Amino acid sequence: MTVDGFTAHCLSPQERLSRSEAKGCSKWVTPHERKVEREVREMATTTKINATSLKLVEIVDLRPWNIDTGKREPILDEQKSVCYRCGKLHAVIYCIEADGNRYDVGSGCCNTLFGWVPDDLEEKLAKLACKDKAVQAALAKHAQPIIDTIYSTPIPDLKYNQSRHTCFGYDYIMTIPGNDKCGIRIHSNSFKLLRPEEVVVSLVDQERFIRIWKRLQIREQVKALYGESKTAKKIEAALYVMMNCQAEKQ
Ligand SMILES: [Zn+2]
Repeated sequence: MTVDGFTAHCLSPQERLSRSEAKGCSKWVTPHERKVEREVREMATTTKINATSLKLVEIVDLRPWNIDTGKREPILDEQKSVCYRCGKLHAVIYCIEADGNRYDVGSGCCNTLFGWVPDDLEEKLAKLACKDKAVQAALAKHAQPIIDTIYSTPIPDLKYNQSRHTCFGYDYIMTIPGNDKCGIRIHSNSFKLLRPEEVVVSLVDQERFIRIWKRLQIREQVKALYGESKTAKKIEAALYVMMNCQAEKQ
């Protein structure tokens, strides 16, 4: 009996394990993996696909990103994708469009199936996009509950706090009740001191204040949930972008 790829897949779990051990290999193939492999292998042919137009649509890595470790997390075999050509289970899939049809294959099988590999740069960019997507998804997962909390919190009204005399006129400090540090400074360019009720908060000022308020909420929420960790900083930065309240350029 030859030990080519196909024959090896038909070995019983015990035979397979003993072979793996004999080779010093600790990888254990689950019954699920073996079943899927066999089924797909029976259907899939070893013939090549001769396509005139081939394109790498994207590289998908099904393993979720862990923000704390900065690495991918392992996934179960059931969560993996079955290679169109060989039937093996992969966490990383190359999605190829060949003459308008899509094929999900492992990176090695791309060449075997089509006799073609994506261009180096194209592949590199697809890998970067794949990582980007995973990081964004992980950040969004952490950020969403915070976003929901902030959007369900009513934005407090600005109240007059004090005036400041400057060389251009009076400035008015408007803050929220209970927090003198959260608010905005409104410039008047006039030396006529307004009474508190005369100070007008324009739409632009109000929008500026909302951004400041959102930033404060984000900082407080992230600190409460993640402390001062590196992860906290990453989530905080992502939230500023997601909630459209990045710091204003000076
Ligand atoms: Zn394959």
